[in-house]
Amino acid sequence: MPIATVNPATGETLETFAPLDPAALEQRLARAESAFGHWRTTGFAERARLLHRAADLLDEQLGEIARTMTLEMGKPIGAARAEAAKCAKSMRWYADRAPELLADERPSADDIADSGGAGAFVRYRPLGVVLAVMPWNFPFWQVIRFAAPALMAGNVGLLKHASNVPRTALALERLFVEAGYPEGCFQTLLIESRAVEGVIRDRRVAAVTLTGSEGAGRSVASVAGDEVKKSVLELGGSDPFLVLPSADLPAAVARAVTARVQNNGQSCIAAKRFIVHADVYDAFLDAFAERMRSLVIGDPLAEDTEIGPLATRQGRQDLEDLVADAVERGAKVDCGGARPEGLSDTLAGWYYQPTVLSEVTPDMRIHHEEAFGPVATVYRVESLEEAIDLANDSPFGLSSNVWTSDPAEQEVCVRDLQAGGVFFNGMTASHPAFPFGGVKRSGYGRELSGHGIREFCNITTVWQG
Ligand code: NAP
Repeated sequence: MPIATVNPATGETLETFAPLDPAALEQRLARAESAFGHWRTTGFAERARLLHRAADLLDEQLGEIARTMTLEMGKPIGAARAEAAKCAKSMRWYADRAPELLADERPSADDIADSGGAGAFVRYRPLGVVLAVMPWNFPFWQVIRFAAPALMAGNVGLLKHASNVPRTALALERLFVEAGYPEGCFQTLLIESRAVEGVIRDRRVAAVTLTGSEGAGRSVASVAGDEVKKSVLELGGSDPFLVLPSADLPAAVARAVTARVQNNGQSCIAAKRFIVHADVYDAFLDAFAERMRSLVIGDPLAEDTEIGPLATRQGRQDLEDLVADAVERGAKVDCGGARPEGLSDTLAGWYYQPTVLSEVTPDMRIHHEEAFGPVATVYRVESLEEAIDLANDSPFGLSSNVWTSDPAEQEVCVRDLQAGGVFFNGMTASHPAFPFGGVKRSGYGRELSGHGIREFCNITTVWQG
């Protein structure tokens, strides 16, 4: 994919970028190594001062940064502002909490004595230069949720962002530079994905984290495995949204819509498969399709737009192929199922209507694959057991949503759902205090919380005789 800013609402190419040549890439790798040599020796107070400064700058530049994101990948402008604000909040969270999350741990006096030592503790030391390979869908948030903990832990970051968000990638680097970080602590590499392997194999790079598709994850993890370097993978999802008879149905419908269409339907943790008990199935499906049909599609820079374009032409094509396959095999289209009509001539980009499909069967691709756009599948089940079996009948296991007020049902869900999260009577959302990540083909490792900041640490045992 060429590195370029293409407005997905209009299809217009706004700017193209040349990838770094080998000499420029080498210069950045050398800078990162040199920056780590100093940065790893700084204390939490200095790291927190700079991260707070970066958060303040982000707040000051929020409008401009939101506009950059919307122009590059099409998310509604209000959502772009909310994303930038969440980044600033999470930077402050890590700036304030890192000392506690990475404090030395001391085994009990009995265990130390049993080891024959006079003292012992565990220290979280930084690993080094960490490469982050990131996607375009939350182009600020995905990067900040890596960078804030990594920098607080004393690591330095290299960012290879998705090729369709270069302006955002450069804005991220600028933010850290303007905040006063030493040269080389956080650098953007404008490189194509085929150059990633060489960076992972470079001796100066200690570890890699990737957020993106399964294919990209497999490729990056294989190289990291071959080099025996730590990797974290945050991959795709096809999260279930269970609606059981005790659910508050109007609230469940309202959240179902938001959970499916947030970010124009392009979120890994979007609810994608709606699994509804027969007792409430008809009422849910009618109300859900009605709400999906009424969403306002338009220019993502307009404040009242609820659904903007998909980020890329290919993304829309992939979604159309999934829907066509399902319809050919007998799925019912309850709403949408096509490109919208009646948009102004300037909005000639990659739009697709919010769509609801029912009567979906396992022979359809959409039953197993991730629908990365505003397309929901709705299933009817007769029991909680059937709902859980269906929810688990997916290669993915990122998160899950369940609507029930029955504590016994909640306990069964926590025990049995194969996912990195179980959210009751609400929708999955990330928060700096909670670990984020998946099982199965959704990846491994965790971001956010104490678990996230410790992923890229050398957990060092110190023993004193
Ligand atoms: P993608 O095509 O996998 O791209 C993600 C990043 O990986 C981009 O920077 C891309 O660079 C790079 N890349 C692609 N193929 C690569 C390869 N073979 N080797 C090295 N790097 C490679 O994914 P996307 O379309 O941008 O994002 C959508 C996917 O991300 C969805 O599956 C979504 O569910 C997942 N996602 C997961 C999470 C999570 O936290 N679990 C969050 C958000 C998104 P180029 O752009 O240059 O190709």
